[in-house]
Amino acid sequence: MAKNNVIIKNGVRFEVAKYLKKVAPKCTKVVIITDNNVFMLYEADISASLKNAGINVCTFVMEAGEQHKNIQTYEAMINFVADAKLTREDVIIALGGGVVGDLAGFVAATYMRGIKVIQMPTTLLACIDSSIGGKTGFDLPQGKNLIGAFHQPSAILIDLETLKTLPKEEFQNGLGEGIKYAFLIGNEMIELLKEGLEDGNLLDFVTRCVDYKLDIVNKDEKESGLRKLLNLGHTLGHAIEKESNYTIPHGLAVTKGTLCVANASVNYGKLQKQAYLDAIEICKKYDLDYTISYDIKSLIKNIQMDKKMHADGDISFVDIEDLGKCVIRTVSIKELEEYLTK
Ligand code: ADP
Ligand code: ZN
Repeated sequence: MAKNNVIIKNGVRFEVAKYLKKVAPKCTKVVIITDNNVFMLYEADISASLKNAGINVCTFVMEAGEQHKNIQTYEAMINFVADAKLTREDVIIALGGGVVGDLAGFVAATYMRGIKVIQMPTTLLACIDSSIGGKTGFDLPQGKNLIGAFHQPSAILIDLETLKTLPKEEFQNGLGEGIKYAFLIGNEMIELLKEGLEDGNLLDFVTRCVDYKLDIVNKDEKESGLRKLLNLGHTLGHAIEKESNYTIPHGLAVTKGTLCVANASVNYGKLQKQAYLDAIEICKKYDLDYTISYDIKSLIKNIQMDKKMHADGDISFVDIEDLGKCVIRTVSIKELEEYLTK
């Protein structure tokens, strides 16, 4: 998707109608999909902007939480959209964190074989990661994100003001994913995080993450190669999440995974030790627990069952060659274990 369809701006929630008209000039009706927390905070601002512009608005409110990212919620949503008689000219607006974005995106991907969706992420994690790139879907009892589709949003509207109401742990969760971007992008991101994300820096930080991810996704939408870079820290991260029975949130698990890879890279004489120490300083500054309390070997056993396994038993693994220089490597489980436990 084009960069000019991503708007990062304080107060953009009051101007939704303007951007909607740009990407869907014939739209007369919008379904806003949100969760109960975000509904109370921001839905009125968006629906007022739309109604003032003569757009018909209906809102579907789901219960907040990943446990509701399931087929029942999907079914309720798609029934709601059908009852609202949305046409192929109309638009769904996903207002909320990653859970809302994934589900609403999938509803848009599947209703009438696909209608437009505008993502309005309201968590830091969704702003810098899940709202970009068009991955949509929901969980099955058998595993996370097992049902899904690629469906690019027509626009992404990021209102940084909405992040002010985020609970501390949700902000930390986003920062956790942010540490990954620091290693992917390079020193300027480390400096930003060390300085602190007050006002101007938050805009700079989010913009750099978004630009980086957009660039990659635009070159490799379906994750056949380059996009795998965004999985830095995720091989181990996913295993940590699972092992903790999902009590460790995703972003934090990614930080743990990323720092474990960074540590290995330092041990093999690749990454400069200072970059690793800077990352630890950042974790301490934001109160992010980067330590791993599980046995790496048992985590790796867990990885063996991960979906990224190649047919021959090798896995794709993102390694840090240097700050701002990551590479995708194909390794056997044994090689990975050796590398991470040296
Ligand atoms: P993620 O983006 O981490 O996947 P979720 O969609 O599960 O997260 O959202 C995390 C929690 O934060 C949910 O309880 C959601 O209702 C709440 N939330 C989302 N955005 C905001 C916000 N801007 N202010 C306060 N709470 C929010
Ligand atoms: Zn992630």
